[in-house]
Amino acid sequence: MSLYPGDPPYTCSPHATVPEHGYSVQSISLCTHTGTHVDAPSHFFADAKSIDQIPLPSFIRPAIVVDVSEKVVPRGRIIWDDFNLSIDNRSEPIVLIRTDWSKHWGKPEYVNHPFLDAEAARQLVARGVSAIGIDTLSPDETEGAANDFGVHQAILGAGGLIVENLKNLAAIPDGAFVNFVPLNLKGGDGSPVRAFAYVP
Ligand SMILES: [Zn+2]
Repeated sequence: MSLYPGDPPYTCSPHATVPEHGYSVQSISLCTHTGTHVDAPSHFFADAKSIDQIPLPSFIRPAIVVDVSEKVVPRGRIIWDDFNLSIDNRSEPIVLIRTDWSKHWGKPEYVNHPFLDAEAARQLVARGVSAIGIDTLSPDETEGAANDFGVHQAILGAGGLIVENLKNLAAIPDGAFVNFVPLNLKGGDGSPVRAFAYVP
């Protein structure tokens, strides 16, 4: 399991087992940002909406994939000019930034992911985009010189959502929707999700 540096680890251990108790119950421990997950605005803004305050339809959106996978290098900055994006009039899309960095999941190299320039995030917000997803640990650089959370600030500051640690973005066809429905965690600043795309 690749974790954001400093986040608590994921554990899963038996609490009851079929041979001993006649039934199985497991105890899991993780944080709100473990694995594939969605960030709520309250992740960065204390008085902003938590995950349980966001309507369910906000987590099911038409997908627009921006493929920058040919351009990425370790810790490379993805700028607005790298985007070849046309936002059509489909309502409330999620813009998915495809880097294919997910191939490094579980390895030390995963932390050296490419990241989004904060100005590109502001351009998305200006075009009405209120949700982004990326196949890396974070859309901001992790533990680097640019580690200022500018993308989180721009998207979450506009009341939007960020999905992190996605994978298989190459497999998403045109016209697909993405489902990233979270657990309904009271006051949650995010939640793990089982993200999937589908064509209605
Ligand atoms: Zn997060």
